[in-house]
Amino acid sequence: MNTLSALPVVPAPTLAIAGSAERFPVRRIYCVGRNYVEHIREMKEGEERDPPFFFQKPSDAVVPGGATIPYPPDTDDFQFEIELVVAIGTRGRNIAKTAALGHVFGYAVGIDLTRRDQQRDMRSKMLPWERGKAFDASAPCGPIHLVSAIGHPASGAITLAVNGTEKQRGDIAEMIWNVPEIIANLSTSYALAPGDLIMTGTPAGVGPVLPGDRIHGRVEGVGELTITIGPRES
Ligand code: MN
Repeated sequence: MNTLSALPVVPAPTLAIAGSAERFPVRRIYCVGRNYVEHIREMKEGEERDPPFFFQKPSDAVVPGGATIPYPPDTDDFQFEIELVVAIGTRGRNIAKTAALGHVFGYAVGIDLTRRDQQRDMRSKMLPWERGKAFDASAPCGPIHLVSAIGHPASGAITLAVNGTEKQRGDIAEMIWNVPEIIANLSTSYALAPGDLIMTGTPAGVGPVLPGDRIHGRVEGVGELTITIGPRES
């Protein structure tokens, strides 16, 4: 029996594009760690202008706005991180800061969902962060808003509320490494390509959620995103 031919081809996950019937196929999800000073302070880690560092989530961790996300296994401290998401539209390596914005297709609002207890445990053992960061449904992301519609937002409030109570507030102008700097730095290590998403880090105020919680995130000048936390997965 030829079992290999029976395996289904898995299509790329896609995100909605605001104002378009077309979809954005997700290739990779890069995330920037420690990109707002107040968040570095609340996490009690690191120098405040260390070079940016990156981790990845699997592309199929992406889930659209409106989704109900199961409370994941292996954690008792499931946390939100509101983030501006950059969607790459043009391939490039060693991209100059001055050329970086030309590689951007659009922007979205995302949440870097985190098993904080696992992240802290891995960090203390100097092990990779995958169990804390790169799990199923860990990258909810709203629709992509085209550069042609919203430009390149460089300032604006970034906020997150749980059940109507504001938990996080910052401004994307406070990012330690701005979008051109992130793209320039990341593209020295990886060839960026259409379909790549970059989650650009979170401001202060991160915290836990529980089954039944409703999370609403917004980036002024970009858009918004709502998710609900479902029952605990065993
Ligand atoms: Mn994050």
